[in-house]
Amino acid sequence: MNEISNFIKTIMQNDLETGKTDIILTRFPPEPSAYLHLGHARAIVTNFELAQHFNGKTNLRFDDTNPTKEETEFVEAIIEDIKWLGYKPDNICYGSDYFEATYQYAIKLIKKGLAYVDDLSAQEISDYRGTLNKPGKDSPYRNRNIEENLELFKNMRQGKYQEGERVLRAKIDMSHPNINMRDPVLYRIIKAHHHRQGDKWVIYPMYDFAHPLQDAIEGITHSLCSIEFENHRILYDWVIDNCETEHQPQQIEFGRLNITNTSSIMSKRYLKRLVDKGIVEGYDDPRLPTLVALKRRGYTPEAIKNFILATGLSRINSTVSSEMLEHFLREDLKLKAKRIMAVLNPLKVVLTNYPEGKIEYLTVPNNVEAEESGSRQLPFSKYLYIDRNDFCLKKPNKYYKRLALDIEVRLFHAYFIKAEKAIFDEDDNITEIHCTYDPETKSGTGFDGRKPNGIIHFVEATMAQPAVFNLFEPLIIDDANDKRNFLERINPNSWITKKGFVENSGIEFKEFDRFQFIRDGYYVTDKTSTPDVPVFNQIVPLKSKYK
Ligand code: ATP
Ligand code: MG
Repeated sequence: MNEISNFIKTIMQNDLETGKTDIILTRFPPEPSAYLHLGHARAIVTNFELAQHFNGKTNLRFDDTNPTKEETEFVEAIIEDIKWLGYKPDNICYGSDYFEATYQYAIKLIKKGLAYVDDLSAQEISDYRGTLNKPGKDSPYRNRNIEENLELFKNMRQGKYQEGERVLRAKIDMSHPNINMRDPVLYRIIKAHHHRQGDKWVIYPMYDFAHPLQDAIEGITHSLCSIEFENHRILYDWVIDNCETEHQPQQIEFGRLNITNTSSIMSKRYLKRLVDKGIVEGYDDPRLPTLVALKRRGYTPEAIKNFILATGLSRINSTVSSEMLEHFLREDLKLKAKRIMAVLNPLKVVLTNYPEGKIEYLTVPNNVEAEESGSRQLPFSKYLYIDRNDFCLKKPNKYYKRLALDIEVRLFHAYFIKAEKAIFDEDDNITEIHCTYDPETKSGTGFDGRKPNGIIHFVEATMAQPAVFNLFEPLIIDDANDKRNFLERINPNSWITKKGFVENSGIEFKEFDRFQFIRDGYYVTDKTSTPDVPVFNQIVPLKSKYK
């Protein structure tokens, strides 16, 4: 974040200069109720990078104050995701570890006459709250005395009431112009098992009460959150002021990040529904914008980070094209990935003038742009596969730079071949092409005579490694004018599987290994690979489809 300035950095700089604080402490506070997605990456990168810039610290804090939604599985996944992105939290904290402290702050508010136990039902509380144009109405229980409130709140903690029977509310102002200030609920009764606290608690603090206190307890200086909390800042400050916490954190909001093609599902709620309904394979389905899915899809943490930094940071929500993320992926993989050959739509080629039974090994660079990547031995013989899309019977126009009858092309890293004859089956499909090759034209021999009609890739056929290729299209058809629910906009062709071949040049295909398949795209080895048949996920095509 050195090069990139943003308004939060300016605030922090200023707070250090004026002595308001002498250290920057930030936190990333996910609720462990699902897996993280790309939007969360903006919050992670922002918090960690800003703190690092000022030699400060960042906590990972699980905001686990609602036992009905939270699970240990998600806690562990979130820790892994952050590590994968390349960040190490200075502390891993749990909001639930502060339940006793939070309870004591509630007692303090009651004693100051700033909180009361209310017997209204959730529906009544909502009816009494008023609207933007209409002030709220005081609850008949609002003026209970301090003793009675202390007694009732203690009873709430001891489990003497049913869920929904009573809540603790702040006593602020039922006609406040900001509805969040109309006596917000601070505690409610939930009789559910908590993933860390077990059955110790039956009352749980609301986010607006717990969050500022968690920040204060940890000594967080700048509490960054997304813009929808802007209207809650006044309550955040009210809690900090009236609880008289030792530290006074400040809340600063930033815009949420949305990405085209995923924006309609980039929320834990929607992701959960897709997973729970079995529409996708799980949270790591490569079509999802979750970090585990992007990892499986072959995205690199570096590309994600560079992308987030490049989107900048402002107070306004932004929607960024998925193309931009793909650009950063290509940039990152360009030099890192071995460039090998795979044929996704195989068409057999027989070189009629090549000796039967001979296998020749061509020494080819692993990545021509990265010398240190070394070289490998690529097999070549009379039998090859090329891609069906690289052949047509008759060259259609001068822009066609591939193989056709009587036309000569270069095979990548190998020889010139010329198509002489196409073989058809009874349905008139081409099954095989007979070609001749020119032994004088081996790649790298300095041959620069005639000009081939393009360069195409191939795989030697007798040793070819059978492989499966997964190609992806957006899972949800993203159209601003389509008002249907996202579940009705599922793209039925979002996962395309092809069976083809990859070159057999002694490369091992281990999970997460990334390759460039020449003239096609970047691919990653998927977890479903077997020793006999590797499975590859397309990370991004080599060229943008939408230019
Ligand atoms: P969702 O809307 O997906 O349910 P959330 O905001 O409820 O996400 P939390 O676990 O509360 O999820 O999020 C942790 C942090 O990540 C919060 O500070 C939140 O503001 C931030 N965050 C979540 N989504 C985005 C996004 N799209 N852009 C920027 N920050 C985000
Ligand atoms: Mg949330």
